[in-house]
Amino acid sequence: MQKGKIGVSTENIFPIIKKYLYSDHEIFLRELVSNAVDATQKLNTFARLGDYKGEVGDTTIRISFDEKKKTITISDRGIGMTAEEIDKYINQVAFSSANDFLEKYKKDANAIIGHFGMGFYSSFMVSKKVEIHTLSYQEGAQAVKWECDGSPEYTIEEIDKKERGTDIILHIDDENKHFVNKDEINRLLKKYCRFLPVPVAFGKKTEWKDGKEVETEEDNIINDTNPLWTQPPANLKDEDYKKFYRDLYPMAEDPLFNIHLNVDYPFNLTGILYFPKIRNNIEIQRNKIQLYCNQVYVTDSVEGIVPEFLTLLHGVIDSPDIPLNVSRSYLQSDSNVKKISSHITKKVADRLDEIFRNERNSFEEKWDDLKIFIEYGMLTDEKFYDRAQKFALLKNTDGKYFTFEEYKNIIKDNQTDKDKQLVYLYATDKEDQFSFIEAD
Ligand code: ADP
Repeated sequence: MQKGKIGVSTENIFPIIKKYLYSDHEIFLRELVSNAVDATQKLNTFARLGDYKGEVGDTTIRISFDEKKKTITISDRGIGMTAEEIDKYINQVAFSSANDFLEKYKKDANAIIGHFGMGFYSSFMVSKKVEIHTLSYQEGAQAVKWECDGSPEYTIEEIDKKERGTDIILHIDDENKHFVNKDEINRLLKKYCRFLPVPVAFGKKTEWKDGKEVETEEDNIINDTNPLWTQPPANLKDEDYKKFYRDLYPMAEDPLFNIHLNVDYPFNLTGILYFPKIRNNIEIQRNKIQLYCNQVYVTDSVEGIVPEFLTLLHGVIDSPDIPLNVSRSYLQSDSNVKKISSHITKKVADRLDEIFRNERNSFEEKWDDLKIFIEYGMLTDEKFYDRAQKFALLKNTDGKYFTFEEYKNIIKDNQTDKDKQLVYLYATDKEDQFSFIEAD
């Protein structure tokens, strides 16, 4: 067995990790499962390019836990690591990226989006000891075990491991033992891993037999590896979008319509936004748009990324081009983020315009629900105002709808005053104010 010391500049990074990231301990699982996904995708790439000639086999990532030993294990069948790679990527690289992260974090405590980028070392937020058992995909590789108890000292030794890939075993500390629990792990997987691109299994599916819930042989796969927003819009039907909406928001009414975002230049962005049906203003909820980075859930707070008036929409946005480990105030000045935000505004306006032109009747039917978005947008966003002028509607006392232009043409003869100014008569309450207007 070999012992070593992680290249630490400060005395000990681990207490800092625990202290600064206190409120967000739960992200450890996302970080570790994301690493497992990366390792699996790298293996698939090597196999495709012919750099790996062995059998790829079943690459399902498996999550398990042991209530007695207080451990959680994340197992993948990806590329694995050799002892040299552990030294390079875990002892040196992972440490320095954790260190960089903390440097940024200290300056702007709550501001780093979804605490992204902690990586492997986030496991020490919840563990008193972490083991890595790993066998590299490289021919003739020797399996190794790395172990570290949260001090800068670690050990590394040769072990017997037959299957290619990596097991990360977390020995959860007392403070965080609530994570070693089926419901809790399920909750975290559903929150962070629901749309990861590689199958993730947590236990077995259960079924009801003779009034009892029993385990079946079938893996309980917790994720949808091919979510709707990653599929070509041309293959999708209205019903698919509605179904996806119901999956995301089981309690909500059907949305008014959706916008499928799909850009690959000059930045990468996919996603689906929905116009929700809003019954009354009290119901309005922000933070219904989920932000993903390559199918990894980051946050549901998208302020700074989409324009304010669009935070009323629902749906998902996925972009690897949104910087995630920077503060919100920095985010708003980032040029990519600015482009993304104005692209989303344009797409929303284009879609509204398209519906208005092609299905005016249905647009009018939806107007009372849409009005709040469109008017809010016109008031707060100049570019949107310019675009929305074409389809924003006015409703007269008979319930008929006019665009600004149409309305102007109708009233210009009757309502131009002596200074040649056009006078618009406007009522906020048709029953109460109509008679005054009539009398004028
Ligand atoms: P990041 O994933 O952002 O590079 P991490 O600290 O999470 O940073 O991981 C550091 C490195 O350790 C990774 O880049 C990868 O090379 C290696 N690594 C981590 N987990 C695994 C794994 N499950 N399988 C193979 N390599 C891994």
